[in-house]
Amino acid sequence: MTLIVQKYGGSSVADSERIKNVAQRVAKVKERGEQVVVVVSAMGNTTDELIKLAYQVTNQPDERELDSFLSTGEIISSKLMVIALKSLGCKAISLSGAQAGIKTDTTYGQARIIAVAPQRILKELKQEKIVIVAGFQGITKRGDITTLGRGGSDVTAVALAIALGAQICEIYTDVEGIYTADPRIVPEARKSKQIGYEEMLEMASSGSKVIHPRAVKLGWVYRMPILIASSFNDNPGTIIHS
Ligand code: ASP
Ligand code: MG
Repeated sequence: MTLIVQKYGGSSVADSERIKNVAQRVAKVKERGEQVVVVVSAMGNTTDELIKLAYQVTNQPDERELDSFLSTGEIISSKLMVIALKSLGCKAISLSGAQAGIKTDTTYGQARIIAVAPQRILKELKQEKIVIVAGFQGITKRGDITTLGRGGSDVTAVALAIALGAQICEIYTDVEGIYTADPRIVPEARKSKQIGYEEMLEMASSGSKVIHPRAVKLGWVYRMPILIASSFNDNPGTIIHS
């Protein structure tokens, strides 16, 4: 049995219809006989809204509390995803980053993953469950919740894929893959079937918002193939590999 880690970004889980759409996609993968771990981002612009709220209260929010506060966006989407999966008759469970074993340093707002302890996920997979993990967050040695920086759910997904020995890390988003140029600006831009880690890292670091640069770096170091594809159709995406 192979294990796949999938990640769905904010636009893919922006409302209840989209959550149901993702639940159906995930259920299909499970029906194929695959083990699935799914990392979700917060719904739509939730994180922006939460940041706005905190800064309406004070222009210097306490950093520990701010990270815990921001982590709740992904908590909401992960629970709602499991509610949707269970309504389809799937066995599933949601885990926070901390419950999923994402250990980080103490750099609030920009924490780095220092280890992944995947025992709980493995236990749930053994019981045939689909495991939904709240992205973008982890826990320090002292037990405080941290966040991984904007767009950090990509990092959660690749780190989990590596720790679990997944076959591939699939990142589903609102674009169909990596293009030779921005298709909104350059009409003749083509979608690449594949791209190397180094080239992808360059693009990610110079402002392409499709994937977090740290996720590409991690994938590169551990040679984890990463697929970028759309959650809105079944068109083939772009594979990042060596
Ligand atoms: N929700 C977080 C953000 O908006 C993390 C993510 O989307 O990956 O930055
Ligand atoms: Mg994102």
